[in-house]
Amino acid sequence: MTIDEKLTLLTESAKYDVSCSSSGSTREENYTGLGATGKSGVCHAYSADGRCISLLKILFTNYCIYDCSYCINRSSNDLPRAAFTPREIADLTINFYKRNYIEGLFLSSGIISNEDHTMGLLLKTLQILRHEYRFNGYIHVKLIPGASQELIIATSLLADRVSSNIELPSSKSLQLLAPDKTKEKVFLPLMQAKNYALENGKRPIGMSTQMIIGATPESDWEIMRLSDSLYSKAMLKRVYYSAYIPVNNDKNLPALTTPPPLLREHRLYQADWLLRFYDFNVDEILNEEHPYLDERFDPKLAWALRNLHYFPIEVNRADKETLLRIPGFGARSVQKILHARRQKQLSTSDLIAMKISLKTARYFITVGGKQPEKMLMTYEALESKLLALPKPLPNAQPTLFDHFASISGEL
Ligand code: SF4
Repeated sequence: MTIDEKLTLLTESAKYDVSCSSSGSTREENYTGLGATGKSGVCHAYSADGRCISLLKILFTNYCIYDCSYCINRSSNDLPRAAFTPREIADLTINFYKRNYIEGLFLSSGIISNEDHTMGLLLKTLQILRHEYRFNGYIHVKLIPGASQELIIATSLLADRVSSNIELPSSKSLQLLAPDKTKEKVFLPLMQAKNYALENGKRPIGMSTQMIIGATPESDWEIMRLSDSLYSKAMLKRVYYSAYIPVNNDKNLPALTTPPPLLREHRLYQADWLLRFYDFNVDEILNEEHPYLDERFDPKLAWALRNLHYFPIEVNRADKETLLRIPGFGARSVQKILHARRQKQLSTSDLIAMKISLKTARYFITVGGKQPEKMLMTYEALESKLLALPKPLPNAQPTLFDHFASISGEL
């Protein structure tokens, strides 16, 4: 098989791993516009300073000795298989880098022969890149659960980001769909890499994992509780959520005709954001009584609707944490408010002049004691008002002008 053929096969096989990027869309392509959502090969990640970097996203091999039910590359599937050599991947990376196609590498792999052999091949690739070719660019590499600690540590020392995908949110589901994996086995390499860095004064490495959403019956609450403990106890940098895309016919999986639950995936990312940046506890967003995120509203708005006693909040007096709980106010808006109110008491027209969207927030605030919109004190009244607000068209990219439209009009 030529390098080009391997490249086509092994970038295509890598597209189901979203732990370096957002997952794909099922939108039809008509090839009349610029860009395409279905193509694989290059993905994007963000560096510590916020820069977006493009990565060659590739599998070392799509051979695999495991037979995970949800995976296109599982051993029981009859499909064309290929494997690179470490030098082939290193050469591709350097050639693409020199042509300015990419700035780094995202390298994952099926398990070929055994875990140590696979981890050794990935390590060899990184050694060629870092030591022989002196490549200083970004490298995200998959750690292979079950590989020996020496290989895991040696690999992680050469990478910027490592990940090991839990894939399914509970041990029961792992047992059913990926019997070769356990939660402990998947997270052990991440713990080994983290502990080695801590104990030896090395820079802490970014670690992430991925969960497939909708292949198994766990609720959003169970999923978010797992994420919460991964952030707090395992110190993971990111948990990625991947809407389940049926690729195999398997009695234990939802039917092949099931559409990927993309809205659920989107709501989980929003809830995840509230955990990481807005100081919410997982049990405030979801609990036994509300185990699923409301698909009609973003999780902060859904929380506000269930906690109307918390509102209205006076924009001129509330502290930062309280302002961040107002639906429709993001971190940038809150920052602008905190900065501006040092100079003067703010009015509604000041907020509009600062280009802060009040489309949703208007129902939850007072500004200088006045309510931009009468607070509707029942869930039902507020719910129907908010559902009537204009929504972006499906698949439409929000425009710069949406923001301005939302702050003009009734105010
Ligand atoms: S170990 Fe990874 S590549 Fe292999 S079958 Fe499971 S998910 Fe697929």
